[in-house]
Amino acid sequence: MELNILTLCYLIGSVTFILGLKMLSNPATARKGNLIAAAGMIIAILGTIFLYKDEAGNKLHNYGWIFGGIAIGGVIGTLAAKKVKMTAMPEMVSMFNGMGGACAALISIVEFNHLIKHPHLDQDGFTLYPPLSSLGGHGASLTGYIPATELVIIMAGLIIGSVSFAGSMIAWGKLNGTIKDFSFKGQHIINLVLLAAAIGLSIVIISKAGHFGVEANLSGNDFQTVTFNSHFPILIFYAVFALALLYGVFFVMPIGGADMPVVISILNSFTGVAAACGGFLYDNKVMLTGGILVGAAGTLLTILMCKAMNRSLANVLIGSFGGGAKAGPAGAKQQGAYKEITLSDAAVLMAYANKVMIVPGYGLAVAQAQHACHDLEKLLESKGVEVKYAIHPVAGRMPGHMNVLLAEADVSYEKLLEMEQANEEFPSTDVVLILGANDVVNPAAKTDPSSPIYGMPILDVELAKNVIVNKRSMKPGYAGIENELFFQKKTSMLFGDAKKVLQDLIGEIKNL
Ligand code: NDP
Repeated sequence: MELNILTLCYLIGSVTFILGLKMLSNPATARKGNLIAAAGMIIAILGTIFLYKDEAGNKLHNYGWIFGGIAIGGVIGTLAAKKVKMTAMPEMVSMFNGMGGACAALISIVEFNHLIKHPHLDQDGFTLYPPLSSLGGHGASLTGYIPATELVIIMAGLIIGSVSFAGSMIAWGKLNGTIKDFSFKGQHIINLVLLAAAIGLSIVIISKAGHFGVEANLSGNDFQTVTFNSHFPILIFYAVFALALLYGVFFVMPIGGADMPVVISILNSFTGVAAACGGFLYDNKVMLTGGILVGAAGTLLTILMCKAMNRSLANVLIGSFGGGAKAGPAGAKQQGAYKEITLSDAAVLMAYANKVMIVPGYGLAVAQAQHACHDLEKLLESKGVEVKYAIHPVAGRMPGHMNVLLAEADVSYEKLLEMEQANEEFPSTDVVLILGANDVVNPAAKTDPSSPIYGMPILDVELAKNVIVNKRSMKPGYAGIENELFFQKKTSMLFGDAKKVLQDLIGEIKNL
């Protein structure tokens, strides 16, 4: 009966994960989706703690340790999530993802040690029938086996989890500036050698699977400890662990700091797969479902991010995007001059427009100008101006960055247009106000085949009647390249920190 309730808990958990993930794809339902999946996770965890029984009918014990761990982790997680700044979100995701990878690797370590000390016994029903005492009392010699499948799963979980842990920690350090990019000649070859060595040694361990003589120390009708007669290559196991950790470090080290969100997404899928290995080992369906969902979602997200940037995964992993030659401060090579607009002129232009489209970018997040932006939107609407937002899929530094940022300021979801929709509306737009965006409006993506962003779909802001660009200088954005938009006839630059400029603009419009 209890087992059935546990199965039901797992079923509820799996269904809520899928539902939650589906709801996360829409900003209006994302928050609820997150809560639903979290509730499912709590049900699955509590079900396991209180209802799980092993084959011999033993329930979990050590409640002090279990709930102590949950309490410490829960408090740290809650505080971290409450305190984190929106721009530091990828950093936090990386750290938490690394913890998931570490857990998966630890499961492999614990289960490996358990398996080699307590192999499956060939004598079926050994603990129940015949009574152990009839098998020779204390210290019976039996035969046991270690299945290759279990070793394969353990080694896969160890390697993938360790790579994810070490890689995520490096990504975390890079994002918060404590670790600098590091690469040397031939590093990719060394990486391949490390990975090949880890896999090769794993095969050595897996090849040791099979039947062995076993010493069982018997106590009454039960066995307490069971040990192998044969030697198992424990050192090799820990060598694989070390190699996988090293590979994780070397894998992420050379990747440009700005490419970290893509790398974190890959590492996230690794953690999912490693957790799914744990699900296989424990025959735990909800762990398996959760792991597979994370693995699949991370892989899809990686593909989508690469597509939206028009770059291959190989280019992200071994390219030097974002670290290339930077445009000069004026970026004025053959571009000619740019023109500036005053605050009062910008205020007039927008206040008397029919339709204004705001294009938010990374700079809006840096300036934390989302609330000021929403205030401007409300003010313009009170003057009869239609205001919408054009959201590029890779604006900012993480997927959905702009949606999350604007949601924080209570901007209505209906006002957020996806790129294709926005591009259709630009020709009927009087003023486009670009707030701290750069690459996502760079026409070089369409016109310059030598540009690193060539082919990336962009927001066609130049189709609007007027374009106002707010940023602090003529410095390039993430891709490190000039933006010819800034030099076009329709474009006017409005320099300054986005928050300050928006507050001043609001003041000007109010005075009109
Ligand atoms: P960009 O990085 O291209 O440009 C941001 C601009 O904001 C800069 O040019 C900067 O100019 C300006 N800025 C910075 N601080 C402020 C401030 N306080 N006030 C006003 N302006 C400011 O950003 P985009 O959003 O246009 O493009 C995102 C880029 O990130 C794309 O290249 C994308 O491929 C990449 N990327 C996105 C990921 C995602 O998932 N969203 C993941 C990985 C990469 P200045 O210094 O002169 O102020």
